[in-house]
Amino acid sequence: MFIKSFRLKTAAAVCGAVLLGVSLGLLVLLLASRSAQSPPQSSVCSEPEQSAASGTEESGTEESDTAQPEESSSESSENQKTVWLTFDDGPSAVTAEILDVLKEKEVPATFFVIGATTDRGRSLYQRIVDEGHALGIHSYSHRYQQIYASADAYWEDFTRLADHLEECAGVRPTIFRFPGGSVNKFADPDILKQIKQKMEKEGMVWFDWNALANDDGASAAPAEEMFENILQSAGDNEQILILMHDDALRTTAPECISMLIDHYQGLGYTFEKLTAETEPIHFSEK
Ligand SMILES: [Zn+2]
Repeated sequence: MFIKSFRLKTAAAVCGAVLLGVSLGLLVLLLASRSAQSPPQSSVCSEPEQSAASGTEESGTEESDTAQPEESSSESSENQKTVWLTFDDGPSAVTAEILDVLKEKEVPATFFVIGATTDRGRSLYQRIVDEGHALGIHSYSHRYQQIYASADAYWEDFTRLADHLEECAGVRPTIFRFPGGSVNKFADPDILKQIKQKMEKEGMVWFDWNALANDDGASAAPAEEMFENILQSAGDNEQILILMHDDALRTTAPECISMLIDHYQGLGYTFEKLTAETEPIHFSEK
C-alpha cells in the first residue's frame, strides 16, 4: 500500500515535472519565435562594405555598371560623418588658390600629385605638406600606356615620384590613387591585378572615390554645376570621398570647394585628410 501510493505519488510528480517541462519548453519556443520576428534592435547586421563606388573614372566611364550607391550609405562604425576632399593631377596654376581656401576655412585635404619639376611645382609640394594636408602619389608621368604596360613599369613610375617628393618636400607617401581609378579602361585587367598585388606587398594603400565633380571637361565647369554633381553622386553617404582635379583649367575649383565646405559642415560633417589608416573606399572589381 505504502509502496503503491509512493509509486502513485512518484508518477504524479513525474507527470507534473513533464508538464512543467513541456510548458516551459513551449514558452521558450514562443519567445524565440517572437524575437525572431521582431526587427533587429540596434542591429549588428552585416554592415555593407564601403567598397561600392558610385563614381565614374576620371575621364570616361564604365564604373556605373558596378556601382551600388544605395547599399553603401551605411552606418559607419564610428558614427562620424566625414568628407575627404581629394585633388588629382596637381600641382598646377590653381593649387595655390585651392590652398588659400582650405587655409581660410581651416580644412585639411589630400593631394594626389604628379611629377612637377618647375620651381613653382616643387614649392607647392612643400606648401601642401607645411599647411597640414596629405600628399599622395598619383603618377609621375600620368601616361596611361606607359604606366599600365606592366607591374614593373607602374612601380618604376611610382617610386620615381616617391623619390621626387621625398627630395622636394621631405615626405615619402604611402597612399596613392591609380590614374583612372583602380578599375579603369586604360589598363589590362590582368596587369592591373598584378599591379595591385605588387602595391599591397609594398604596403601601399590606394583610394578611389564615391563622389565626383565631373570636372574633367575641356573647360572649367561653373562652380555650382560641380557642386551639384558632387552632392548628387555623394547622396546621403556618411563617408564621402570626393574626387576633384587640380589643374590649370579648373579655375572654378576654389569656389566650389568653399561651397562644399559650408554645405557639409552645415550638415555636421567633419573634413579629414586621408592617411594609410583610413578605411579605403575602393571600386568593386566586378
Ligand atoms: Zn589623373
